[in-house]
Amino acid sequence: MRAVRRTKIVATLGPATSSRELIAELLDAGVDVFRLNFSHGDRSIRRTSSCSRTSSPPRSARRSARPRSSRSRRWAAPWAASAAWAAWAASAACSEVAPPDVSFPPALSALIRELGRLPGIGPKSAQRLAFHLFQRPTEQVEALAEAIRAAKASLDRCPTCFNVMTKGEGTCHVCSDPSRDAGLVCVVEQPADLLAIERSGEYRGRYHVLHGALSPMNGVGPEQLTIAALLTRLDEGAAEEVILATSTTVEGEATAMYLARALSERGVPVSRIAYGLPVGGDLEYADEVTLGRAISHRRRL
Ligand SMILES: [Zn+2]
Repeated sequence: MRAVRRTKIVATLGPATSSRELIAELLDAGVDVFRLNFSHGDRSIRRTSSCSRTSSPPRSARRSARPRSSRSRRWAAPWAASAAWAAWAASAACSEVAPPDVSFPPALSALIRELGRLPGIGPKSAQRLAFHLFQRPTEQVEALAEAIRAAKASLDRCPTCFNVMTKGEGTCHVCSDPSRDAGLVCVVEQPADLLAIERSGEYRGRYHVLHGALSPMNGVGPEQLTIAALLTRLDEGAAEEVILATSTTVEGEATAMYLARALSERGVPVSRIAYGLPVGGDLEYADEVTLGRAISHRRRL
Protein backbone atom coordinates (compact mmCIF):
# COMPACT_ATOMS: atom_id res chain seq x y z
CA MET A 1 0.00 0.00 0.00
CA ARG A 2 1.30 3.46 -0.82
CA ALA A 3 0.01 6.99 -0.83
CA VAL A 4 0.15 9.11 -3.98
CA ARG A 5 0.14 12.89 -3.52
CA ARG A 6 -1.42 12.23 -0.13
CA THR A 7 -4.77 11.92 -1.86
CA LYS A 8 -4.96 8.35 -3.10
CA ILE A 9 -4.37 4.89 -1.76
CA VAL A 10 -3.29 2.28 -4.28
CA ALA A 11 -3.44 -1.22 -2.88
CA THR A 12 -2.44 -4.44 -4.60
CA LEU A 13 -4.20 -7.22 -2.79
CA GLY A 14 -4.49 -10.92 -3.33
CA PRO A 15 -7.59 -12.99 -2.70
CA ALA A 16 -6.35 -13.97 0.77
CA THR A 17 -8.57 -13.70 3.84
CA SER A 18 -6.29 -10.97 5.24
CA SER A 19 -7.06 -8.84 2.18
CA ARG A 20 -10.79 -9.13 2.74
CA GLU A 21 -10.31 -8.29 6.41
CA LEU A 22 -8.32 -5.21 5.45
CA ILE A 23 -10.98 -4.11 2.99
CA ALA A 24 -13.68 -4.61 5.59
CA GLU A 25 -11.72 -2.60 8.14
CA LEU A 26 -11.11 0.23 5.68
CA LEU A 27 -14.78 0.31 4.71
CA ASP A 28 -15.74 0.43 8.37
CA ALA A 29 -13.40 3.39 8.73
CA GLY A 30 -15.21 5.17 5.89
CA VAL A 31 -12.43 4.81 3.30
CA ASP A 32 -12.95 4.79 -0.44
CA VAL A 33 -11.67 1.38 -1.44
CA PHE A 34 -10.58 0.70 -4.99
CA ARG A 35 -9.56 -2.62 -6.34
CA LEU A 36 -8.40 -3.72 -9.76
CA ASN A 37 -11.11 -5.73 -11.43
CA PHE A 38 -9.58 -8.78 -13.11
CA SER A 39 -12.78 -10.74 -13.46
CA HIS A 40 -13.39 -10.03 -17.16
CA GLY A 41 -9.90 -9.29 -18.32
CA ASP A 42 -10.37 -5.55 -18.16
CA ARG A 43 -8.64 -3.37 -15.60
CA SER A 44 -11.41 -1.12 -14.49
CA ILE A 45 -11.35 0.00 -10.88
CA ARG A 46 -14.40 -0.59 -8.74
CA ARG A 47 -15.41 1.94 -6.18
CA THR A 48 -17.00 0.55 -3.06
CA SER A 49 -17.54 3.39 -0.57
CA SER A 50 -16.90 7.07 0.26
CA CYS A 51 -14.84 8.99 2.83
CA SER A 52 -13.36 12.31 4.23
CA ARG A 53 -9.85 13.98 4.21
CA THR A 54 -6.47 14.57 5.92
CA SER A 55 -2.83 15.21 4.94
CA SER A 56 -0.44 12.54 6.24
CA PRO A 57 -0.57 9.35 8.29
CA PRO A 58 -0.22 9.63 12.06
CA ARG A 59 3.25 8.99 13.49
CA SER A 60 2.15 5.68 14.91
CA ALA A 61 0.81 4.55 11.56
CA ARG A 62 3.98 5.63 9.74
CA ARG A 63 6.14 3.83 12.26
CA SER A 64 4.16 0.64 11.91
CA ALA A 65 4.01 1.00 8.13
CA ARG A 66 7.77 1.38 7.73
CA PRO A 67 9.17 -1.52 5.68
CA ARG A 68 11.13 -4.13 7.57
CA SER A 69 14.57 -5.25 6.52
CA SER A 70 13.52 -8.24 4.48
CA ARG A 71 11.23 -7.97 1.45
CA SER A 72 8.98 -10.82 2.54
CA ARG A 73 8.45 -9.38 6.00
CA ARG A 74 7.76 -6.00 4.44
CA TRP A 75 4.58 -7.22 2.79
CA ALA A 76 3.66 -9.73 5.46
CA ALA A 77 3.76 -7.08 8.19
CA PRO A 78 0.53 -6.61 10.12
CA TRP A 79 0.67 -2.80 9.78
CA ALA A 80 -1.92 -2.67 7.02
CA ALA A 81 -4.73 -3.68 9.31
CA SER A 82 -3.66 -1.44 12.18
CA ALA A 83 -6.27 0.93 13.51
CA ALA A 84 -3.93 3.94 13.21
CA TRP A 85 -3.27 3.28 9.54
CA ALA A 86 -6.91 2.70 8.80
CA ALA A 87 -7.80 5.96 10.50
CA TRP A 88 -5.27 7.88 8.42
CA ALA A 89 -6.35 6.10 5.24
CA ALA A 90 -9.94 7.00 6.01
CA SER A 91 -9.08 10.66 5.83
CA ALA A 92 -6.32 10.64 3.20
CA ALA A 93 -7.88 8.47 0.55
CA CYS A 94 -10.79 10.72 -0.25
CA SER A 95 -9.29 14.19 -0.32
CA GLU A 96 -9.05 16.01 -3.63
CA VAL A 97 -9.16 12.90 -5.80
CA ALA A 98 -8.44 14.36 -9.22
CA PRO A 99 -8.82 12.40 -12.44
CA PRO A 100 -5.50 10.76 -13.43
CA ASP A 101 -3.30 12.84 -15.70
CA VAL A 102 -2.25 10.39 -18.44
CA SER A 103 -0.84 12.93 -20.87
CA PHE A 104 2.94 12.87 -21.38
CA PRO A 105 5.25 15.83 -21.87
CA PRO A 106 5.38 16.78 -25.58
CA ALA A 107 8.96 15.51 -26.01
CA LEU A 108 8.06 12.11 -24.57
CA SER A 109 4.93 11.86 -26.71
CA ALA A 110 6.99 12.66 -29.81
CA LEU A 111 9.53 9.97 -28.91
CA ILE A 112 6.78 7.37 -28.36
CA ARG A 113 5.16 8.34 -31.65
CA GLU A 114 8.42 7.98 -33.61
CA LEU A 115 9.36 4.69 -31.95
CA GLY A 116 5.87 3.37 -32.72
CA ARG A 117 6.53 3.83 -36.43
CA LEU A 118 9.26 1.17 -36.35
CA PRO A 119 8.28 -2.28 -37.68
CA GLY A 120 7.13 -4.68 -34.99
CA ILE A 121 6.80 -1.94 -32.37
CA GLY A 122 3.29 -1.38 -31.05
CA PRO A 123 2.12 1.51 -28.85
CA LYS A 124 2.96 -0.24 -25.59
CA SER A 125 6.39 -1.35 -26.78
CA ALA A 126 7.08 2.19 -27.97
CA GLN A 127 6.12 3.55 -24.56
CA ARG A 128 8.32 0.99 -22.80
CA LEU A 129 11.28 1.82 -25.05
CA ALA A 130 10.78 5.54 -24.52
CA PHE A 131 10.88 5.16 -20.73
CA HIS A 132 13.89 2.86 -21.06
CA LEU A 133 15.74 5.49 -23.08
CA PHE A 134 14.78 8.15 -20.56
CA GLN A 135 16.37 6.09 -17.79
CA ARG A 136 19.61 5.41 -19.71
CA PRO A 137 22.67 7.64 -19.14
CA THR A 138 22.82 10.64 -21.44
CA GLU A 139 25.98 9.42 -23.21
CA GLN A 140 24.32 6.10 -24.14
CA VAL A 141 21.28 7.82 -25.60
CA GLU A 142 23.47 10.25 -27.53
CA ALA A 143 25.57 7.34 -28.89
CA LEU A 144 22.38 5.64 -30.10
CA ALA A 145 21.11 8.84 -31.73
CA GLU A 146 24.48 9.41 -33.40
CA ALA A 147 24.61 5.81 -34.68
CA ILE A 148 21.17 6.21 -36.26
CA ARG A 149 22.11 9.55 -37.80
CA ALA A 150 25.46 8.26 -39.12
CA ALA A 151 23.92 5.09 -40.58
CA LYS A 152 21.30 7.10 -42.43
CA ALA A 153 23.88 9.58 -43.72
CA SER A 154 26.54 7.07 -44.81
CA LEU A 155 24.53 4.16 -46.22
CA ASP A 156 23.08 3.81 -49.69
CA ARG A 157 21.68 1.19 -52.04
CA CYS A 158 24.00 -0.57 -54.49
CA PRO A 159 23.09 0.73 -57.99
CA THR A 160 23.43 -2.79 -59.41
CA CYS A 161 21.81 -5.16 -56.93
CA PHE A 162 20.24 -2.71 -54.41
CA ASN A 163 22.03 -4.29 -51.46
CA VAL A 164 23.06 -1.96 -48.65
CA MET A 165 26.48 -0.39 -49.12
CA THR A 166 28.58 2.48 -47.85
CA LYS A 167 27.83 5.68 -49.74
CA GLY A 168 30.46 6.58 -52.35
CA GLU A 169 31.87 3.07 -52.83
CA GLY A 170 30.39 2.53 -56.31
CA THR A 171 28.94 -0.93 -55.75
CA CYS A 172 28.41 -3.24 -52.78
CA HIS A 173 30.98 -5.76 -51.59
CA VAL A 174 29.23 -8.61 -53.44
CA CYS A 175 29.03 -6.87 -56.81
CA SER A 176 32.65 -5.68 -56.54
CA ASP A 177 33.94 -9.19 -55.76
CA PRO A 178 35.51 -10.54 -59.00
CA SER A 179 35.49 -14.12 -57.69
CA ARG A 180 31.70 -14.20 -57.72
CA ASP A 181 29.84 -16.04 -60.47
CA ALA A 182 28.25 -13.23 -62.45
CA GLY A 183 26.01 -15.70 -64.30
CA LEU A 184 24.03 -16.53 -61.16
CA VAL A 185 21.57 -13.99 -59.77
CA CYS A 186 19.71 -14.76 -56.55
CA VAL A 187 16.60 -12.61 -56.01
CA VAL A 188 15.77 -11.87 -52.36
CA GLU A 189 13.25 -9.62 -50.63
CA GLN A 190 15.49 -7.84 -48.13
CA PRO A 191 19.21 -7.28 -47.45
CA ALA A 192 18.77 -9.42 -44.33
CA ASP A 193 17.83 -12.36 -46.59
CA LEU A 194 21.05 -11.81 -48.53
CA LEU A 195 23.05 -12.00 -45.32
CA ALA A 196 21.25 -15.21 -44.32
CA ILE A 197 22.20 -16.88 -47.62
CA GLU A 198 25.75 -15.59 -47.31
CA ARG A 199 26.03 -17.18 -43.86
CA SER A 200 25.15 -20.55 -45.38
CA GLY A 201 28.39 -20.44 -47.39
CA GLU A 202 26.67 -22.38 -50.20
CA TYR A 203 26.23 -19.61 -52.72
CA ARG A 204 28.90 -17.75 -54.69
CA GLY A 205 26.81 -15.90 -57.22
CA ARG A 206 25.37 -12.39 -57.12
CA TYR A 207 22.11 -11.00 -55.81
CA HIS A 208 19.22 -8.71 -56.53
CA VAL A 209 17.35 -7.19 -53.58
CA LEU A 210 13.70 -6.34 -54.25
CA HIS A 211 13.18 -4.41 -50.98
CA GLY A 212 9.80 -5.98 -50.41
CA ALA A 213 7.31 -8.36 -51.97
CA LEU A 214 4.21 -7.86 -54.08
CA SER A 215 1.24 -7.10 -51.86
CA PRO A 216 -1.69 -5.43 -53.65
CA MET A 217 -3.64 -5.29 -50.38
CA ASN A 218 -0.93 -3.02 -48.95
CA GLY A 219 -0.44 -1.05 -52.14
CA VAL A 220 2.85 -2.71 -53.07
CA GLY A 221 3.02 -3.37 -56.81
CA PRO A 222 5.93 -4.03 -59.18
CA GLU A 223 6.60 -0.29 -59.34
CA GLN A 224 7.32 -0.14 -55.61
CA LEU A 225 9.97 -2.88 -55.91
CA THR A 226 13.19 -3.06 -57.92
CA ILE A 227 11.70 -5.44 -60.49
CA ALA A 228 12.15 -3.05 -63.43
CA ALA A 229 15.84 -2.66 -62.55
CA LEU A 230 16.19 -6.46 -62.40
CA LEU A 231 14.68 -6.90 -65.85
CA THR A 232 16.91 -4.16 -67.25
CA ARG A 233 19.92 -5.76 -65.60
CA LEU A 234 19.11 -9.13 -67.12
CA ASP A 235 18.47 -7.57 -70.54
CA GLU A 236 21.90 -5.92 -70.46
CA GLY A 237 23.86 -8.96 -69.32
CA ALA A 238 23.23 -12.63 -69.95
CA ALA A 239 22.43 -14.61 -66.82
CA GLU A 240 22.80 -18.35 -66.79
CA GLU A 241 20.25 -18.71 -64.03
CA VAL A 242 18.04 -16.59 -61.80
CA ILE A 243 17.25 -18.14 -58.39
CA LEU A 244 14.06 -16.87 -56.83
CA ALA A 245 14.67 -16.84 -53.07
CA THR A 246 11.67 -14.84 -51.95
CA SER A 247 10.00 -16.03 -48.77
CA THR A 248 7.33 -18.73 -48.68
CA THR A 249 4.61 -16.32 -47.53
CA VAL A 250 1.66 -15.52 -49.77
CA GLU A 251 3.37 -12.30 -50.85
CA GLY A 252 6.69 -14.06 -51.45
CA GLU A 253 5.06 -16.78 -53.53
CA ALA A 254 3.12 -14.22 -55.57
CA THR A 255 6.32 -12.30 -56.22
CA ALA A 256 8.13 -15.48 -57.29
CA MET A 257 5.32 -16.40 -59.70
CA TYR A 258 5.26 -12.88 -61.16
CA LEU A 259 9.02 -12.91 -61.70
CA ALA A 260 9.03 -16.44 -63.09
CA ARG A 261 6.52 -15.41 -65.74
CA ALA A 262 8.35 -12.18 -66.61
CA LEU A 263 11.75 -13.90 -66.82
CA SER A 264 10.56 -16.90 -68.79
CA GLU A 265 9.22 -14.50 -71.43
CA ARG A 266 12.81 -13.29 -71.79
CA GLY A 267 14.15 -16.79 -72.02
CA VAL A 268 16.06 -16.55 -68.74
CA PRO A 269 16.39 -19.87 -66.86
CA VAL A 270 14.58 -19.50 -63.53
CA SER A 271 14.67 -21.71 -60.44
CA ARG A 272 12.98 -21.50 -57.05
CA ILE A 273 14.65 -22.36 -53.76
CA ALA A 274 13.57 -25.77 -52.46
CA TYR A 275 10.89 -26.37 -49.85
CA GLY A 276 11.63 -28.92 -47.22
CA LEU A 277 12.20 -29.92 -43.66
CA PRO A 278 14.51 -28.11 -41.27
CA VAL A 279 17.78 -29.87 -40.60
CA GLY A 280 17.59 -31.79 -37.35
CA GLY A 281 13.78 -31.60 -37.25
CA ASP A 282 11.52 -34.58 -36.58
CA LEU A 283 9.14 -35.55 -39.33
CA GLU A 284 6.19 -35.93 -36.96
CA TYR A 285 6.44 -32.28 -35.88
CA ALA A 286 6.47 -30.86 -39.42
CA ASP A 287 3.30 -29.08 -40.55
CA GLU A 288 1.27 -30.64 -43.36
CA VAL A 289 2.12 -28.01 -45.98
CA THR A 290 5.86 -28.24 -45.41
CA LEU A 291 5.77 -32.03 -45.39
CA GLY A 292 3.61 -32.13 -48.52
CA ARG A 293 5.99 -29.84 -50.38
CA ALA A 294 8.98 -31.84 -49.18
CA ILE A 295 7.39 -34.95 -50.69
CA SER A 296 6.38 -33.30 -53.97
CA HIS A 297 9.81 -31.64 -54.38
CA ARG A 298 11.81 -34.74 -53.47
CA ARG A 299 15.04 -35.39 -55.36
CA ARG A 300 16.56 -38.63 -56.59
CA LEU A 301 19.67 -39.81 -54.76
ZN1 LIG B 1 25.57 -4.89 -55.31
